[in-house]
Amino acid sequence: MIRSLLRTTGRRLLGPSVFDSLVQFRRRPVRGPLGASDERARWVFVEPHYDDVAFSCGGMLAAVVRRGMPAEVLTVFTADPAPTAPLSPLAEAVHAEWGAGERPYEQRRREAGHMGTLLSLEQTTLDLPEALYRMPHLTSIDEVMRPQHAPGEDPSFAVVREALEEALGHDEALTVVVPLGVGGHLDHLLVHAAIRALAADRPMWRVWYYEDFPYALDIPALKERVQALGAAFRPATVDIADTLDARVRLSAVYTSQVRAIFGTPDQLRSAISGYAGRVGTPRHPRERVWTVQGRGENGRHQGDPEATSRDTKR
Ligand SMILES: [Zn+2]
Repeated sequence: MIRSLLRTTGRRLLGPSVFDSLVQFRRRPVRGPLGASDERARWVFVEPHYDDVAFSCGGMLAAVVRRGMPAEVLTVFTADPAPTAPLSPLAEAVHAEWGAGERPYEQRRREAGHMGTLLSLEQTTLDLPEALYRMPHLTSIDEVMRPQHAPGEDPSFAVVREALEEALGHDEALTVVVPLGVGGHLDHLLVHAAIRALAADRPMWRVWYYEDFPYALDIPALKERVQALGAAFRPATVDIADTLDARVRLSAVYTSQVRAIFGTPDQLRSAISGYAGRVGTPRHPRERVWTVQGRGENGRHQGDPEATSRDTKR
């Protein structure tokens, strides 16, 4: 009771994003994206799987598009399972949850295509197989969410990094928006680590890390991830009062995932608006993103520890 009164008062006095940054994360917030300096660059929203960008930062994506800035979505793991090998029992079970037939990525591609047409977006896919297909020895979702190896020690790391490098190039001043890695999904950690490794050699890039949704609903998991990434990671927020509805609409097209993850479209809407209403306020919903601040921006300051150390161990 007293805690919640203090929180309400503190948020009113300091503003919700400043208060939460200091109290929840012990970090000073930085100026958010969509400032003047970001407006020149091409924006590339990178997602491990179809739906991650819409679910996690669809409000920011819609805001970028509304401002007329060039934006595209790049999806990394979009391949069908290899036709020559049988599906693992875990992959079979997940397919059943999606309820999207024998070749669910056909439906997932259609869903993503629909999302793209809603915003007239450029979309790119890297056509790599997701963890369920490339690691048939996985027996539970828990193993997907608690990888045994640091991303840099994963045999797929070099492949993911090379594919991203080819897609993103070297010289252009890009704003790259990528997963923070909340929840520990190994595909999300791989993409996060690969982008940081590339960003270390690309001072022209501006990198923002979105809070993986719905994993970020688990606040202890979010705090744990932020802690593991180190003090150079600083939060910022984006006003999505005008684009919250767009985020819900963009997310709702992924029907196979909405059913499996949220249940109904109404539950999807309330999960998204509840979270954005807590990051901001119910009347002024916001999305939170993170960035590496200070000397050695883009991750260089830490010598890319994600690629070599085991910070995902719990
Ligand atoms: Zn994902």
